[in-house]
Amino acid sequence: MSEHLTQTRRRRTFAIISHPDAGKTTLTEKLLLFGGAIQMAGSVKGRKAARHATSDWMALEKERGISVTSSVMQFPYEGRIVNLLDTPGHADFGEDTYRVLTAVDSALMVIDVAKGVEERTIKLMEVCRLRDTPIMTFINKLDREGKEPIELLDEVERVLGIQCAPITWPIGMGQRLKGVVHLVSGEVHLYEQGRNFTRQDSTIFASLDDPGLAARIGGQMLADLRDELELVQGASHPFDKQAYLDGRQTPVFFGSAVNNFGVQPLLDFFVEHAPSPQPRATTRREIAPEEETFSGFVFKIQANMDPQHRDRVAFLRVCSGKYEAGMKAFHVRSGKEVKLANALTFMASDREIVETAYPGDVIGLHNHGTISIGDTFTAGESLGFTGIPNFAPELFRRARLRDPLKLKQLQKGLAQLSEEGATQFFRPLMSNDLILGAVGVLQFDVVAYRLKDEYGVDASFEPVSVATARWVKGGTPKKLEEFREKNAMNLAVDAAGQLVYLAPSRVNLQLTQERWPDFEFAATREHA
Ligand code: GDP
Repeated sequence: MSEHLTQTRRRRTFAIISHPDAGKTTLTEKLLLFGGAIQMAGSVKGRKAARHATSDWMALEKERGISVTSSVMQFPYEGRIVNLLDTPGHADFGEDTYRVLTAVDSALMVIDVAKGVEERTIKLMEVCRLRDTPIMTFINKLDREGKEPIELLDEVERVLGIQCAPITWPIGMGQRLKGVVHLVSGEVHLYEQGRNFTRQDSTIFASLDDPGLAARIGGQMLADLRDELELVQGASHPFDKQAYLDGRQTPVFFGSAVNNFGVQPLLDFFVEHAPSPQPRATTRREIAPEEETFSGFVFKIQANMDPQHRDRVAFLRVCSGKYEAGMKAFHVRSGKEVKLANALTFMASDREIVETAYPGDVIGLHNHGTISIGDTFTAGESLGFTGIPNFAPELFRRARLRDPLKLKQLQKGLAQLSEEGATQFFRPLMSNDLILGAVGVLQFDVVAYRLKDEYGVDASFEPVSVATARWVKGGTPKKLEEFREKNAMNLAVDAAGQLVYLAPSRVNLQLTQERWPDFEFAATREHA
């Protein structure tokens, strides 16, 4: 096998999805510990405050260095290279999460044993379904009382519409938690608080028939377990790899992230079965990761550690070929060849300075405003990766400047912040207003704060009579001219210069659509 193929096949790029508080941060930390990427528990903790309130978010921004580097966590495990892409926690950043999920090959869903399937899990699952992303499930907090495991599987199947294939099964729960049985290998892993960190540090019996087991968990519990397992086998599905890869079945694991418990069977199974980098659709053709010429797309832009320089990092997922430090690549949207110098790579171990990246890896490009979300880089071919949308915002505000002399800074700030993708920025054709659109209301506070902090602009946001936005597409040039003339009052351009209809009401939108059947009024604008 060529070096390229070997490197590609050993990559596993995924994200963790969960409802807040299910244990995503804790599990992330344990995975990094298992991967040897961090030495101590607690290192991931600092950044999670983000989701709760604006003020927390702002405190977090002071430590922006942490948030940038923890956006992608790469670590080696059992001969594989694992890339864990962080998804933002707050519900207001749903779009960001959506785009991160376009850059992964699989996902890991964390469910709280007591709470079961929660609202945000359902939403995230819908997103995964759009691309049939394969999903593994970890049912967490088994050290506490929760729902019956069989009930939980039933709930996942019913609510999320995906088959469950339990890979591990809990022995007891809460105070009575004794361990898990691995339904594929037959091994029994005992739960011992403060241990379970490695195989060597765990008590593992080869099978349920091991004479030592009854002594440890008690004859009655063992007998009950056997009965239960029979029931489970009847009521659930055996692991079917193809069904998993097609997104129809989810392998399920039980454990307690905070106690390291059940995490290693999950990680072992994950690196063995989760898909390596998959082909991606573009405007012209499908690109296979095996191709040796370089290509990739930008799925996220984030402010960098140093607000003084307003430097931003564009996160690019490599889709084919190899990135090498200092190489040149073709930036399709601008039509320019650019040198990719000093890209950040995310190998967690600092002993190794990584100067190359393969399909499935993410590199961070320094961006001074020329790179946007959705941009494609290639070795020269003019094509664009598809499926990385901008959603029509639901909330709109007009920016109000306290000091009119700062208009230039305000425009610049809004344009740059909207590049990060959380908010969108519109300039009406007929006025000098600057209108900001967002999916969640918290985003306006964040933007106001960052305008002040990073651009020295004191701005507030006031209501504006816009109900929704639609990107206008199609029509002949002549029709378009007519359309622009007749609707100038409600038209604007977005940060990328695309024409957008800002509808004062849903009814108005409907009427306009009926009046102008030649045009498409799209609720998303595909990048690129
Ligand atoms: P996130 O919001 O999904 O990132 O959740 P966190 O990882 O921050 O966990 C939320 C809370 O649940 C924290 O207080 C954790 O310490 C706790 N937690 C995480 N895993 C477990 C577990 O296995 N058992 C128990 N009892 N608590 C846990």
